[in-house]
Amino acid sequence: MGHRAHFVETDNSRSNSTCKAAHPLFSGIVLFRIFCFTAILTPLLLSGCSTDATTHQASSNDFEITVEEPREATTGMPKTADEEKDGQQGDEQQYVQTPDRPEDAPRASRVPQSSSADDAREALNITEDYRSSFVHGDKPARFQKYIVLHDTESNGDAQSVIDWWDSNGNLVAAHFVVNKDGSIWQCAPLDSIVHHAGFGDTGHNEKYGTTDESRDDKRGTAPIGDWAADYGMNSYSIGIEMVHVGGEGSYPKAQLEAVDKLIAYIDSYYGFESEIIDHKAWRSGNSDTSEEFAEHLKSYQRTRRHAS
Ligand SMILES: [Zn+2]
Repeated sequence: MGHRAHFVETDNSRSNSTCKAAHPLFSGIVLFRIFCFTAILTPLLLSGCSTDATTHQASSNDFEITVEEPREATTGMPKTADEEKDGQQGDEQQYVQTPDRPEDAPRASRVPQSSSADDAREALNITEDYRSSFVHGDKPARFQKYIVLHDTESNGDAQSVIDWWDSNGNLVAAHFVVNKDGSIWQCAPLDSIVHHAGFGDTGHNEKYGTTDESRDDKRGTAPIGDWAADYGMNSYSIGIEMVHVGGEGSYPKAQLEAVDKLIAYIDSYYGFESEIIDHKAWRSGNSDTSEEFAEHLKSYQRTRRHAS
C-alpha cells in the first residue's frame, strides 16, 4: 500500500447523466415529449432516456437502468458493521468533516439485476472472506468514482495479507487482493468504504472531486501531517491490491488478466467506468504502484486492460 500525482480527475461530468434534463421546472420538455411521442421518433425516445420514469428496461442488453434515489448515509450498511460502528464511534472525531457532498444529484446507473455482472463475477476466481472490521461506512453507487490500484509490497498471498490486516489493529484493508496466480480474495463488499488509500496530499480532495464527510467513520486513522490532510478518496473508490514487491520483476500474466477481469466486473456492477488511478497519484511519494507497472497503468487508463 504505497506515492506522485500524474493524473487529474475532478470530473463533474461524472455526476451527470443523460437523465439530468428531467427537471420539473423545465416545461419545454413537456412540449418536446408531446412532439416526440407523436412523431416517428417515439421508438427511439423509448429506447433512450426516460424523463419521468425512474426505471425502464433497456432494449438490447441485460441491464435495468435506474436512477438512484438519495439514501440515508447508513442505508445498506451490513448490520453487523452498523452495530459495531454504533458501539465504537467517537474515538477519532477530531477531524473536520463536511456534511455536504460534491454530487448530490442522483446518478443514472445500471444495476446488475440479471446476468451480465454476475457472469463477469463468475468468470473470476473470487474467494469471499469478508471482515466486518474493514467496513468504515456506506458507499452506494452514486459515490463510486475511482478504482485505486496498489501493490501489497509483500510476497505473502492474499489470505495472509488479509489476515495481517485483520490482526494488526490498523483497520486498513482493500476490497480485493489479487494473487500472482490470478486468484482473487474479496474482504469487503463493493458498496462499502474501506481504508485502502489513507490520507492524500492536501488539496487532493478538491483535485479528485472528493470530500471527507460523515459516511466514513475514520476509525483507526491518524493524521500524518499538513502535507497530507485529505481523506476523501476512501469514500469514493474501490481498492485493489496486487501481490507484488516493487523492483522484484514483472507482474505474471495470470495476475494481470485477473485484474483485467476484475475491473470489467466492477464496471459491469456499477454500469459505468470508474476512473483508474494508482495509490501514488493520491498520495505523492508512495511506492505503489511500482515502476514495472507503469506501462500497465497507462494501458488500464486507456483501454481498461493491461499492456500486452
Ligand atoms: Zn497502496
